[in-house]
Amino acid sequence: MSTIGFVGLGHMGGPMTANLVQAGHTVKGFDLVPAAMEEAVRHGVVAVSSSAEAVAGADVVFTMLPKGQHALAVYQGDDGIFAHASTDTLLIDSSTIDVESCQTLHDEARVKGFRFIDAPVSGGISGAEAGTLTFMVGGADDHVAEAKPYIEPMAGNIIATGGDTTGQAAKICNNLMLFINLASTCEGAVLADRLGLDKQTFWDIARVSSGDSWALRTWYPVPGVVDTAASNRDFDPTFTTDLANKDIGLAIAAAQQTDTPLDLGEYVQGMFQKLSDAGMGGKDCSAIVKLVDGSMDG
Ligand code: NAD
Repeated sequence: MSTIGFVGLGHMGGPMTANLVQAGHTVKGFDLVPAAMEEAVRHGVVAVSSSAEAVAGADVVFTMLPKGQHALAVYQGDDGIFAHASTDTLLIDSSTIDVESCQTLHDEARVKGFRFIDAPVSGGISGAEAGTLTFMVGGADDHVAEAKPYIEPMAGNIIATGGDTTGQAAKICNNLMLFINLASTCEGAVLADRLGLDKQTFWDIARVSSGDSWALRTWYPVPGVVDTAASNRDFDPTFTTDLANKDIGLAIAAAQQTDTPLDLGEYVQGMFQKLSDAGMGGKDCSAIVKLVDGSMDG
């Protein structure tokens, strides 16, 4: 079994490391937040006090950080991965970040003699816990092949996407669709309620009809229907509004560069922005249902 360094033990990184430990690997984990470290230690991660310590002696390093700026800081800083890892160590960034930052990491890794791939994920916290995430993996074919056995304990699907940054490109486009689906699910759910439908009955119908989606099955915004949904827990986050706003913003930025009209995407970003402006950026992104049911006003 291998030694794995893991930086970023949050909502996703936490359960991902649990599955790596379960598979028999030694996982050395680091996060800035003590509570995240404590939780990781509870499922067998060895806590270390810096990214530099996490990468020392590791066969492979995963990073699972919020945004491009965090990934750049963790790789490039004086205490960062490029400065402290051995070039024998395979580097895998699973954060969802902008294509430009991702390309910067690929370029710098190459210049410094590292093997680096971008491998963002889909499947949410429930997928991270179950070890069924979809990994979209961009980079050189031999590096992707080398990464697969390490990714497997966390994954239901591992899909090679092509060269540098293509994993991020796939993730950005996937999440654009996810958030539009989420907004449509919020509208359908609220309208169904106002038309007198029982919430469970409507969900049962949509689940086996053309209104079905991952958002419906996993993040249903009405409490008491889907166990994994944040609506059951006053929108305590599984995926924060701020991260959703970041992701859809990445799609909009990419659309501007490619002259692609994203009218729906821009509308949904406006919904996330309204929640954020109201101080709810740390709540789950499915709380945009409040803009539909009027509970933001109350
Ligand atoms: P999170 O905010 O819960 O976790 C990120 C962690 O990174 C935090 O615990 C934070 O303290 C840590 N961190 C930030 N800077 C650091 C640094 N310099 N050193 C060490 N740790 C640092 O976010 P998350 O929900 O786990 O998401 C992580 C990434 O995965 C994001 O890019 C997100 O878009 C993506 N993602 C999230 C989900 C989801 O459902 N939550 C699903 C798929 C992809």
